[in-house]
Amino acid sequence: MPLKQPESMDECVYFTQRSLEGGKGSVKVWVFKQACPKCKKSIMGKPRDKKGKALIRAKEYACPGCGYSIDKKSYEESLTANSQYKCPSCGSSGEAQIPFKRKNIEGIPTLRFQCGKCSAGIDVTKKLKEKKGKAIGEEAADEGI
Ligand SMILES: [Zn+2]
Ligand SMILES: [Zn+2]
Repeated sequence: MPLKQPESMDECVYFTQRSLEGGKGSVKVWVFKQACPKCKKSIMGKPRDKKGKALIRAKEYACPGCGYSIDKKSYEESLTANSQYKCPSCGSSGEAQIPFKRKNIEGIPTLRFQCGKCSAGIDVTKKLKEKKGKAIGEEAADEGI
């Protein structure tokens, strides 16, 4: 069954699209936001300041309905990372799901999916921040919105 695709970035805590090994493969990864584990009504998001602006660098997620909050890491690790890929090793396309939990691979926090055909690792590394304060575009998506 094909994975559910996000209709907008607003539905995701994480979204990225990468080309792998010089274009031999590619991968798209998305992670849906989840409803509050406490009230199960509202979608968890970044807390907002008094003017209603989301605090994207906040270290926690909060429920806009009941106010329940959970630290960023625990919340993210409870989510599922979805991917659609073209394997750079064997060229086959497929989909995979893993827990949204990065592993340290060669010193870089990495989401490692596995090709369903040849079992090669399909790695999505965390992009390191080049500039502080850059909050638009893929960089921001990688940080989680
Ligand atoms: Zn709630
Ligand atoms: Zn493969």
